[in-house]
Amino acid sequence: MKIQVNGSKAGDKESGCALCGATWGDYYEEIDGERLFFCCDVCATEFKNMLKEVKNRTGWKKIDEITINGNFYKGRTCIAKSGGNEFKFYVRFNDNAEVETFKVTD
Ligand SMILES: [Zn+2]
Repeated sequence: MKIQVNGSKAGDKESGCALCGATWGDYYEEIDGERLFFCCDVCATEFKNMLKEVKNRTGWKKIDEITINGNFYKGRTCIAKSGGNEFKFYVRFNDNAEVETFKVTD
C-alpha cells in the first residue's frame, strides 16, 4: 500500500507512522499482508478502523493507495485508491481510536 501523510511518504520506520507521520515509536502491524510502521498502537487501531470503514462503504477488498491530510484534532481528509477507483472522505476518531465522524467528500 502506498501511503502519503501530510505530503510525505509514510508507513515505514524511515518515513514515519502510516497514520500521523511521526517518526518516534516502534510499533508494527501487518495490514493487508504488509508490515506497516506506526508510532503507537492507537494510530494502528485508528488506521485499521479507517480502512475497515472504507472497505465497508466501497466493497473493495484491498486498498492500493491512501493519502491522508490533517491530524487528530482537525480530523483527516483522505483519498483512497483501489484498482483505478478513487474514494474521498473525511474521518475523525474519538479517544478510543474508534471512527467518530466519517463523511464521503468530493
Ligand atoms: Zn502515529
